[in-house]
Amino acid sequence: MYMKLADIQEIQLDHTSRCQLKCSQCARTFGGWSEYPENQNLDLTLEDYKVLLEPFPQGQLRLFHCGNYGDALASRTFDNTFDYSLSRDPKSIMIITNGSLRSSKWWSELAQRGGKKLKVAFSIDGLEDTNHIYREGAIFRKIIENAKAFISEGGRARWDFIEFKHNYHQIELAEEIAHEIGFEEFNVKYTARFASEGNKAVTNNKKQKVEDTDTNKNQSDRVDIIKSYGSFDEYVNKTEISCKTQKRNSVFVDMHMRLWPCCWLGAPLYLKKKSAQTESFKHFLDLYGHDFNSLRVHGWKVLEHEFFNSYLESSWKSPDERFKRIYTCGRTCGEKFEFSSGYGQNRNVKVLRGAEV
Ligand code: SF4
Ligand code: SF4
Repeated sequence: MYMKLADIQEIQLDHTSRCQLKCSQCARTFGGWSEYPENQNLDLTLEDYKVLLEPFPQGQLRLFHCGNYGDALASRTFDNTFDYSLSRDPKSIMIITNGSLRSSKWWSELAQRGGKKLKVAFSIDGLEDTNHIYREGAIFRKIIENAKAFISEGGRARWDFIEFKHNYHQIELAEEIAHEIGFEEFNVKYTARFASEGNKAVTNNKKQKVEDTDTNKNQSDRVDIIKSYGSFDEYVNKTEISCKTQKRNSVFVDMHMRLWPCCWLGAPLYLKKKSAQTESFKHFLDLYGHDFNSLRVHGWKVLEHEFFNSYLESSWKSPDERFKRIYTCGRTCGEKFEFSSGYGQNRNVKVLRGAEV
């Protein structure tokens, strides 16, 4: 079984399908996802949060806003659901955001409302002249203004910085600025998205090049994998799998209130472009239908569904004709390639002040 209800300690949320940016490797940008009418303006509601949080005792849950398709702060339902979440006394609330939205006043009040339980990670991949190359549409000065308003009211903040060729030379300066403003942490990370797709660069909508660094270990890992296995796909099919989120007692809820074990499995159902991931999803969606994991339809009983009960673990350890391996699992949680920027070699958090939580 993937997880029992009583064992869940973290819920990661893709609260909304809204976002004002167009980051070139984001699932919403890639393949034109956000342009389809059925994907626009979806938000989790207060009623959804009641279904989500009521079964859990106070003080147990970490809530983690980090979406595949949206930025929670772009949602009109965020404020109500945030206050309700606080009233359920979670252990902590973490929000990952591009930081561009809302007024300084709102950010000051957010710090007061959230207190020490709240932490915000601002995704700022560069400085004034570079951040918008990947974070297309972001306004650096506005983000810094928001971060200052939040931090000056006691808000706990982290600066997340994805390194690319165009911003690599600014890492030290960005860390100094983070320190001056009062960020608690500075997190430099590289992305596995180039290497897992077998490329080294993409272009943004303004035809600017977004290029991987030469030092990204994912690129050399991919070369070694192809030498040993013949191809990356062969590795994905054969590697041992160690599920990251099962160890963290974590689950993921998407903007349709569908439950997934993790954010990585929460993305492919909505990808518009055909890929190895969407093909392997087709198998179990044909078996179970599209709403097998809807919390709006089934509530938390979805954890008893065959997908959570048997499919996942069988597909990792002994896949067969019914429980076929899911491509996303081999790619993300295989033994020789670190896909996520939140784990292992790709994570490099420096504590600038205060205690790490
Ligand atoms: S800010 Fe986040 S949700 Fe918005 S486009 Fe960028 S990666 Fe995607
Ligand atoms: S991708 Fe698969 S193996 Fe990895 S965390 Fe998600 S469910 Fe677990």
